[in-house]
Amino acid sequence: MENKEDKTQLICPKCRSGRIVYAGTTVSSGGAGTGTTDQRYLCKDCGYVGSFVLDVSGREKTESDIAMEEDLMKIKKELGL
Ligand SMILES: [Zn+2]
Repeated sequence: MENKEDKTQLICPKCRSGRIVYAGTTVSSGGAGTGTTDQRYLCKDCGYVGSFVLDVSGREKTESDIAMEEDLMKIKKELGL
């Protein structure tokens, strides 16, 4: 585990708002006794709720960040967002 010193900013995957708040955890029962705990976040701007959020640090975008965003765009298309 790497320990990030950068301050992490959460970004809504739907509207890219930074107004994401932590909304607790949900326990998703994935079968016989294999429940996993997911973190949940709520977007105050568009109402998005989910465990999938972007987190970016305060630094400038790197190539991997940009590549990640392109991947995200594909995911969003698949999800119909
Ligand atoms: Zn949003």
